[in-house]
Parts: sequence; C-alpha cells; structure tokens
Amino acid sequence: MSFLDYAPAPESRAIVRLRPSYGLFLDGEFVDGHGTPFPTISPATEEHLAEVATADEHDVDLAVAAARRAYDEVWSKLSGSDRGKYLFRIARLVQERARELAVAESLNNGKPIKESRDLDIPLVAAWFFYYAGWADKLDYAGLGANPKALGVAGQIIPWNFPLLMLAWKIAPALAAGNTVVLKPAETTPLTALLFAEILQQADLPPGVVNIVTGAGATGQALVRHPGVDKIAFTGSTAVGREIARATAGTGKKLTLELGGKAANIVFDDAPIDQAIEGVVNGIFFNQGHVCCAGSRLLVQENVHDDVVERLKHRLSTLRLGDPLDKNTDIGAINSQEQLDRIRELTAAGEQEGATPWSPPCELPANGFWYAPTIFTGVQASSRIAREEIFGPVLSILTFRTPQEAIAKANNTPYGLSAGIWSDKGSRILAVADGLKAGVVWSNTFNRFDPASPFGGYKESGYGREGGKQGLSAYLAPSGGAQ
Ligand code: NAP
Ligand code: MG
Repeated sequence: MSFLDYAPAPESRAIVRLRPSYGLFLDGEFVDGHGTPFPTISPATEEHLAEVATADEHDVDLAVAAARRAYDEVWSKLSGSDRGKYLFRIARLVQERARELAVAESLNNGKPIKESRDLDIPLVAAWFFYYAGWADKLDYAGLGANPKALGVAGQIIPWNFPLLMLAWKIAPALAAGNTVVLKPAETTPLTALLFAEILQQADLPPGVVNIVTGAGATGQALVRHPGVDKIAFTGSTAVGREIARATAGTGKKLTLELGGKAANIVFDDAPIDQAIEGVVNGIFFNQGHVCCAGSRLLVQENVHDDVVERLKHRLSTLRLGDPLDKNTDIGAINSQEQLDRIRELTAAGEQEGATPWSPPCELPANGFWYAPTIFTGVQASSRIAREEIFGPVLSILTFRTPQEAIAKANNTPYGLSAGIWSDKGSRILAVADGLKAGVVWSNTFNRFDPASPFGGYKESGYGREGGKQGLSAYLAPSGGAQ
C-alpha cells in the first residue's frame, strides 16, 4: 500500500509450541472443563490454533473454592516480602519468555509483532516488577497501617491487550494479598494459558491464581458467585452496567474500566509533524482497539487543511498485513463480530454526511481486515463522533478557541483520556484543567507506566488501575473485610 517497499520479514513462529488443546487452570493444574470446548483462531488468517476448555458454573465454583483455600491456608499467611518474591519471579519469567509470548499474542489477537514485542510484553513485565516492589510496603499505600486483603478477586478482561490486561489485574491483586480467578476474553485465551505455565514454573502455590476460559456466561457465573469478594472488570460499558446491577447490594467490591471516545486536540501552534505522529499513534495503534484511543481529532480550524493533508500523506506510508511481519504497522481486526461493528458505524458516518478517506490498500483475502480510515466533515451529533468504534477509524472535527475545544472534548458520555498538542505550557495546563478525562496526555499519546494511575469518569467506569491508587482496589483499611 505504500511507496516504500520492503521484503517480507516474518518473525518465526517456531518459538511458540502450542498444545492442540488447553484445559482450565484450576488449583495449579490444567484440567478439563465441563462446558463444550471451543476453537481459538488467528484473526489474520482464520487458521485454527488450539481447542480451549469452557468453564461452566460448576468449574467456576471449583476455581473459587481453590482460590479461597489458597487464600486461607497459604497466601494470607505469607509476609509481603515473600509474596513479592513470587511476583519478581513471575516478572523475570515473563522477560525470559518474552519472544514466545509476543508471537503468541500477535497470533491470537492479530496485533503487529512490533507492538506485542516492544509494548505489550515489556509492559507486562514492568507491571509485575512494579507491584512486586509494593508487596512489602502496603503500610505506605495511603490506607493506614496494615491494610488487609479483600480475599478472592474475580477478574474479567477483554481481548484488545490480553496479557497486559491480565497483568494490570493480577499483579496488584497478588501484591495486596488476594487470590484470583481470572476469565480471559473468548477470542484471546492463549497468552493467559501460557501465563499459567509460567505460574507453574514460578512455583506459585496452587490456587493462588486460577484461569477459567469461556465466553460471556463464564464471566457471568464468576460475577454472581457468592464466594467472590471483589470483581474487577475491563470491557464494554454495556456489560459493565450489567455487572454493576448484578453486584449491587451483595457487598462485593467493584471496579469497572469501560469504553472511551477520547479527544486528541491539536492547536495551531503545535509542532505539526510531531502531532501527526501522535494522532496516528493515538488511533491506529493496535488497530484502534484501545479504550483510550484518540478517536476524535479536534483540530484548530486554521490548520485543519494542512493537518488533514499531512495525515493522508502519513497514512499512505502505513503497512497493513501479516501481524507477524516486523514491518507491519496495522494488523488484523480481532474478530468478525468487531469487524461488523466497525462497518456498521462507518456506514452510519457516511449516511450522516461525513466524508471517509483511506489510503490505497490491499486487504488480505482471509481473516478480518479494515483499512485505516479518516472521516472529515464530522458533525458533533454524528454517531461516529459519539459512539466508540473500537477500530482504525478517526473522526475529525474543528474548533476555534480553547473554550470551544474543551466544550467539544467534554461533549461525550465517556471520560477516559484526552490529548493536547500545543507549544505553550500554560495553554496545555489550562486546557487539561478543563477536560473531564481520567488521563490527559500532552504532546504525546498512549503512554503507559505502571506507576501512573489509569481510569475513567462517567460511562468510562470507576476505580483506578496502576500506581499506588491501583492497590486500594484490592485492600481494605485495617479493621476491614477480613
Ligand atoms: P465485553 O464484551 O464487555 O467483554 C469483556 C469481557 O467480559 C470478556 O471477557 C467477555 O467475555 C466478558 N463478558 C461478556 N459478557 C459478560 C457478562 N454478561 N458477564 C460477565 N462477563 C462478560 O467487551 P469486549 O468486546 O471484549 O472489549 C471491548 C470493550 O472493552 C470496548 O468497549 C473497550 O472500550 C473496552 N475496554 C476498556 C478498557 C479500559 O481500560 N477502560 C480496556 C480495554 C477495553 P467474551 O470475550 O466471551 O465476550
Ligand atoms: Mg464480548
């Protein structure tokens, strides 16, 4: 698709030895599930990768019982520094197996290997190292002396960053002294199962982490299980609402990380070429399957034409194709279901009068693909300006004054993230102050660090992950629950 031609440079798959089938990870062992196993595929080719077990209610019950036993008999009796040693060990094993995990992630999710290799997996290790360091310092977490673990945490994660979301959930839970039952997304279970092997290698006591694969019904069973003390969920706002209803009045603690529709605001004094890189990263990173993606570009009216022209030029150099090729910028859409959703929303955008543009781009014949797309002439009321597309699609709107930029950026039911591009520090601070978003990046975008809390306002959910704030989701002040 571009004027720059490269020879294919595929990463070898030989480093990943997938088993033909995977069981559930219960009480330290892989066991069969009672539900019907399901195939997991590569979204780039639709190739069958492995069969994966389905956990039904009975299996979820076994997993929660194993987690409770491990909590009562082992994990709650260890000192913080001993828990930390296990977390450090897990972090080092993730680093040792980093190439294998990166290839498996790209195979099962469809994301480019340069992202899984350089971002996802290094951040997974960083998250475990960071929370390993907290395990013996919980008295300094801001919750008073000697805060207590909650008990058994049920954790449900989406498919867009399978192993990274697992790390965001498991690392703080274990550091704080909880045990875990985690459900990966139906379309991306593989790296969670490789991670279970890492837990065996690390000699983590059986039952401290249990992994129950399956679809929405498995998640539902976990949410409703009376033996779970806390639910941590990342996913769509619709499912988040359902979980909030199901846990209301049960005494279960709940944190929700939901969707977003972030504004990336470009002022006329911004270094435009850098801003273009940030806009491209903001929406085309991970095919736009990013809850904090900069999916609405708000550009100051007097530089609109220049920005759009440079953006088109830059998009023409992006390479779409084999996720395992080291030169690939844009990989596959994760599933047929997600592709259908992207198509439905972009068709609505056209009907509502916005103008789409994509670079010339050949899509592979098999698998799920969507060309990077920008929409100009987008009205604030249009569905593509309001709803989360969760794909490689950017909606471009304009503004004239900082006040108008703030008003338009906040004109959304979500409030997860935002970006500001400007040369003036005072303007950045003033605008950031007016934005209702959990994370505001300035002159950069999609930067993640385990020390930095992440989370939303409004329909983007509540609670924070990362940093010491992320510990409070798994701790009760002393004298609390347990
Ligand atoms: P989803 O359908 O809400 O699924 C998320 C997880 O919940 C999956 O494991 C899913 O299982 C499970 N699930 C589905 N129905 C359930 C139910 N009734 N009870 C309990 N669990 C249930 O979302 P998705 O399509 O996987 O992910 C995309 C969405 O997640 C986007 O809206 C995105 O914005 C959001 N997201 C937010 C963040 C954040 O940090 N705020 C991060 C990533 C993604 P199945 O896989 O079987 O459906
Ligand atoms: Mg789903």
